[in-house]
Amino acid sequence: IKGQYGKHFAFYDDKLRDTLLHRQAITDGMERALASGQFEVYLQPKFRIADGSLSGAEALVRWNHPEWGLQPPSEFIPLFERNGFITRLDQYVWEQACSLMRRWDLMGFPHIDVSVNVSRTDIRDMDMARVLGGLVERYGLDPSRLHLEITESACKDSADQLVETLHRLRKMGFVIEMDDFGSGYSSLNMLTEMPLDVLKLDMKFIQTEVANPSGDSILGFIVSLARWMELSVVAEGVETREQLERLQADGCDYAQGYFLARPMPVKALEELLASPPGC
Ligand code: C2E
Ligand code: CA
Ligand code: CA
Ligand code: CA
Repeated sequence: IKGQYGKHFAFYDDKLRDTLLHRQAITDGMERALASGQFEVYLQPKFRIADGSLSGAEALVRWNHPEWGLQPPSEFIPLFERNGFITRLDQYVWEQACSLMRRWDLMGFPHIDVSVNVSRTDIRDMDMARVLGGLVERYGLDPSRLHLEITESACKDSADQLVETLHRLRKMGFVIEMDDFGSGYSSLNMLTEMPLDVLKLDMKFIQTEVANPSGDSILGFIVSLARWMELSVVAEGVETREQLERLQADGCDYAQGYFLARPMPVKALEELLASPPGC
């Protein structure tokens, strides 16, 4: 095998080895990282479009790695979804979310809700009703303050289990949001099958809508559909004023995106809560 291709094989071998080593390093470090507080919850504010007020925030996890620096979820969540560690990490994030809401209540801040992400592995491997029920009880919170974001892709397998779990959680009072709506092909099917409170439009949605102003507004149609189904509508990935104005014109309820606020550390959000913009 040492012939003329040897070099190339070596090159691919090195790359493969690096990837495997990196994955191994993540796997070796994850338990300690969780125990020592290296996972940090960032919060991205969400605003009511009608009056610009802060209505809530989405919890987005980062890994504050001692050697690699602040790692985005794309670096570790897919791996954790495969090796099962996501259920542990998500429980940690959900608990942080509850503990923060409790803390803000005690500090006298205006009531906001927190949205957390739910992975399909959580639905498959965890008794979510027990875990989440325990958390809201322990922190003395109304379950409607905790919004659960489920992605469309979570619905691909074990649809029955998903629908059953969501019905149960919704009965308990948690708010169910369909995340990334419009990014998959089965969106409309899922709408009729899943118990839902909120549609969260995928960011590509508003970006294409504003980029191709053909006159026919799919956005307007989706908002009417949501109204008819008694769902509220959140648009995420709002990056420009133009996009925000379009959402307002089409009657969308909430907006989240870099144009309004980036995901930020807890401290920064608490500063916002202490002195809301406009006051
Ligand atoms: P997502 O749930 O769709 O979250 C929205 C992503 O869009 C976030 O990326 C956010 O930082 C980013 N974003 C917000 N506003 C804008 C904008 O105006 N423009 C653009 N281009 N992007 C914007 P992030 O934080 O890197 O998270 C990526 C994904 O990782 C999330 O997508 C979610 O699926 C997953 N994730 C994050 N935290 C958690 C977690 O605690 N648990 C689980 N299971 N998944 C998580
Ligand atoms: Ca989300
Ligand atoms: Ca999303
Ligand atoms: Ca996403």
